[in-house]
Amino acid sequence: MARLTLLAFCGAALLARQALNFVGGAGGTGAGRVSRVPRRAEAEEEEEPEYVAAEGDRLKLKVLSPEGDGISLACSEVILPSASGQLGVLANHAPMMSALDTGVLRYKEDGQWKPIVVMGGFASIDSNQLSVLVNDFEKADDIDAEKTQSEMEAATALLEKAASKKDKLEANQKVKRAAARLQAAMFLSKKKCCAYFLRHSDFLGALGSLKGAIRAREVALSAVGALAFVETLVIVEQDRFGNLAIELVLGTGEAPHIYVVLGSKKAVIIDTGCNSGNLRQFLATLPQLAGKEFQVVNTHIHYDHIMGNYGFCAPGGKSLGSGCRSICQGSRRKAFSENWQEHSLQAMVGAEILDFCVTDWLDEGARIYLDEESPSELESLEVLHTPGHTPDSISLYYPAENRLFTGDLIYPGSIFLHLPGSDLEEFEASLSKVRDFAADKTGLVLSCGHITPSLQVAALQELHGLIEEMHQGRGQPRWDGATTSFTTKNFTLMCRTADVKKMKGA
Ligand SMILES: [Zn+2]
Ligand SMILES: [Zn+2]
Repeated sequence: MARLTLLAFCGAALLARQALNFVGGAGGTGAGRVSRVPRRAEAEEEEEPEYVAAEGDRLKLKVLSPEGDGISLACSEVILPSASGQLGVLANHAPMMSALDTGVLRYKEDGQWKPIVVMGGFASIDSNQLSVLVNDFEKADDIDAEKTQSEMEAATALLEKAASKKDKLEANQKVKRAAARLQAAMFLSKKKCCAYFLRHSDFLGALGSLKGAIRAREVALSAVGALAFVETLVIVEQDRFGNLAIELVLGTGEAPHIYVVLGSKKAVIIDTGCNSGNLRQFLATLPQLAGKEFQVVNTHIHYDHIMGNYGFCAPGGKSLGSGCRSICQGSRRKAFSENWQEHSLQAMVGAEILDFCVTDWLDEGARIYLDEESPSELESLEVLHTPGHTPDSISLYYPAENRLFTGDLIYPGSIFLHLPGSDLEEFEASLSKVRDFAADKTGLVLSCGHITPSLQVAALQELHGLIEEMHQGRGQPRWDGATTSFTTKNFTLMCRTADVKKMKGA
C-alpha cells in the first residue's frame, strides 16, 4: 500500500494528480492523440461541473449510419475513438480525416459530456463541421447496463473458445463492441470506470507538461521510448481505498499500478490491484491480449496488489481458471505470504479479498520466460528478492525494456517501513542490491507499484544519502510517537522509531 504525506510531498501529489487527470476517461484505448486542451477540460468537468452557455457550442457534429439514421447537433468539443487512439476536436480545428475504431465518441453539448457508441467508420472535419460516417451507432440512453454486462461476459467467453482466426476476429469485434457499450453505460450512470489502460508512451505526453523536478524523469523516459520494444502496459486503478485526505485531493485511493508485459503467446500480469472491477474480464477487453495466456505475479501480498487474483482462478479459488498458466509469488517468506488473510492488511482497510491459489514460488534469480518454447533472456523477467516494505517483496527485471518492476519497495512518495513485516535493515540491503544490479544497466527505469511507471534509477541517490544520514544520526526526522519519518525531495521513509534508534546505534 502507499499513501502520500501530503504536506511533505506536494511534488509527488502533483505528479500523481497529473497522471490521473491524464488517464481520466481514456478507458479501453490508447489516449495518445487527445490534445491536452480537451482532456484537461474533461477532467475539470468531472471535478466541478461548470455551466457553459450553449452559444459556446460552435462545432456542428453530424453522425450518420449507412441506413440514413443520424444525429445532428451543436457542441463545443468532441473526442473521437480514432483507429490510433483518442482524438480531441475543438472549434477551428484544421481540416482532417481520420478512421474510427469501435468505441465511444464523446461530445460536450451545453457544457455536458455525452457518449455515443460508434461501430467503426470515418470522421472528417472542415470549417467547424465534423461529419462522422459510421457502420452503426447507438445512443447511450438506449443501453441497458446490466444486459451489456452479461453481453460482455458472453463475448469474453466466446473469445476464449475461439480457435480459428476468423472466429477470433469475430469474437474480438463482439468484445470491443460490448466494451464500448459498457463504457458508455457506465459513463452515463456516473459510475467511475473500474480501471484505465495506458501505453507507456502516453505517459510521455502526460509528464511532458510538468515542470521542475519532473523534468529529470522526462529525459529518462525519452531514453526508454527510443528502445525497440516499449510494449508494457500499465493500468492505474481508481479504487475506494487509501487515505481520505488523499482521496479528497486526488480522488484515487491507493491507485495501484497493474503492469502487463506482453509476450507473443502469454501476458505476464504484475500485481492485480484492488478489485474495483474484475481485472481478468477487463484484460479480456484489450485487443493486444486476445488469445494470450495469463501468468500472474504478485510483487507482495498487500491487499492492493492481490485483490484481482481470484479472477484468474476457477470459482472458489482452489485451482487456476481457464487461460491462466500460473499465479506466482516470491518464495522468501512463504509462511508470511501464505497467511495473506492477516498480512494483506485487508482487515485494517475493510477489504474483502476473494480466495485464490498460488501455484509457483519464485526463488531468487528465477526467470519467467515470455516465450517458453524458445526462451531468451532478453524476453524474460528475472526475479530479485527485495524485502524491506514486506519480507516477501520481489522485484522483476525485464531486459527488453531495461525496466525493473519494484512493487512497493521504491516509489517517489511515502515508503512504508513501519508495517507488520517491514524491516528497515532489509530495506537498506535491498536498496543497495538494486544499486548494484543497476550498475551495468545504463538508463534503467523503475516501474513502481504506485505513483509512477517510470522513475530514473539515479533518483535513488537521494535515498542512499538519506540512509547514510540516518546512520550518522543526522537528517531531519519528524516524530509521531512510534513512527518517525524522513523526507527528501522525492521520497519519505516512514520508519518505526525503535528501528531508527537501532540504526543510529549500529
Ligand atoms: Zn501498494
Ligand atoms: Zn505494499
